[in-house]
Amino acid sequence: MKIGLIIIGDELLSGNTQDCNMLYLGEKLRALGLKLGECQVIQDEIEVIKKSFTQALKENDITICSGGLGPTIDDRTKAALSEYLGVELEDSPHARKLALEHYQRRSLEWFPELNNYHMIPVGVQAYFNPKGLAPGLLLKKKDQQLLCAPGVPREFQSMVDHFFNSLLENKSNAARNYFTIRTNGIPEEQIFNKKCPTLWQTLSQFGNISSYPRMSGIDIVISDLKMTSTKMKEKLTTLPELHPIRNHVWHLGNGNIGELIIELAKQHNITISTAESCTGGLMAHLLTEVSGSSQVFFGSVVSYDNSVKKNILGVTQEGLDHFGAVSLEVAEQMATGVRNQMGTTYSVSTSGVAGPLGGSEAKPVGTVAIAIEGPSGRHSKTYQIPPIFDRDEMKKRFASRALISLFKQMKKDLSL
Ligand code: ATP
Ligand code: MG
Repeated sequence: MKIGLIIIGDELLSGNTQDCNMLYLGEKLRALGLKLGECQVIQDEIEVIKKSFTQALKENDITICSGGLGPTIDDRTKAALSEYLGVELEDSPHARKLALEHYQRRSLEWFPELNNYHMIPVGVQAYFNPKGLAPGLLLKKKDQQLLCAPGVPREFQSMVDHFFNSLLENKSNAARNYFTIRTNGIPEEQIFNKKCPTLWQTLSQFGNISSYPRMSGIDIVISDLKMTSTKMKEKLTTLPELHPIRNHVWHLGNGNIGELIIELAKQHNITISTAESCTGGLMAHLLTEVSGSSQVFFGSVVSYDNSVKKNILGVTQEGLDHFGAVSLEVAEQMATGVRNQMGTTYSVSTSGVAGPLGGSEAKPVGTVAIAIEGPSGRHSKTYQIPPIFDRDEMKKRFASRALISLFKQMKKDLSL
């Protein structure tokens, strides 16, 4: 099935807004065992949009179009679709019903004359917008479909979810038909060109292989799986081709680090706290993003200033003077402090140099000390992230590295 995406928006081309919708659709389709074949980013001009529709509909079975459905002058998708089809806009009872529903959901009154949401090109269906006000537009031709969805990412995502979930309702085997080998601390070229030169080929017998560098490390994804996830996991656990990087594999399966920690903690009645310096609360954010995390995550101390490290977490002045704030000793004391304060099974702490300022010869930008305290005692390690990332990305990498360390330690202590 050929699937294409048209992203409409001058603000994306001018660099004012970063696109999120291609990222979402690409990932969504991969999870469903489908593939995004092409993507165009175009200006919001009627002639340009028409030309793009013509080309996309010639080549794709399904075309998703993002943006330009709102009520303002620069929202031209509906007009472009009616011109492309050579039809007028008509008052659609279905579009009226949907618009009314969308407004009622937010306890708002709908004034049709302010937005024309009830006017739809002849032959086109209005489409339910689960998270917004403007109905989407669905054109069904013989073997092709064009879905025009809003540009606002949360609206785009919910509409695209709705569309593909109903499309694949009867093909539920396709859903979630992928499996991830999650690694960290080793670059792609080392995995595939040095340590495991036959891995890609060996994995290819189980499905389609892709490799994705992520904040958490390299993900090797097997899509179009030829077996169940359980069988796949069993096979991979003993696969000799994976052996040389076994220490770098932190998870066999899907799910992000926050979800995996919370799930494991729930299963084993484990509670967690964090003490964060350089990550500024990001670990707590990644954990609390997961619904139901309150059952197992107690809280965090963002101990940015040394006074907080000392007064709240009990870090010693000697430790700070002798080893410095970015040190294994201080990270360990932070982990102990927060675990004692909150009475959790595990605690994890971070202290590092996120940059761009503050680096030294001994502790350059990208240095992070991570400590974990749990039933098997204290475990700490200093990592060096390459100083090529900006502050924001550096913080994310620190947080991700620390949570992966916590997850690995939890599994080790549980003999998993
Ligand atoms: P609205 O009713 O808000 O006008 P719309 O469907 O007309 O919605 P656009 O006008 O194209 O959508 O975009 C609305 C806002 O959504 C943009 O200002 C931008 O902030 C965001 N947006 C649009 N497209 C994208 C995209 N591809 N990636 C990220 N954000 C986007
Ligand atoms: Mg708009």
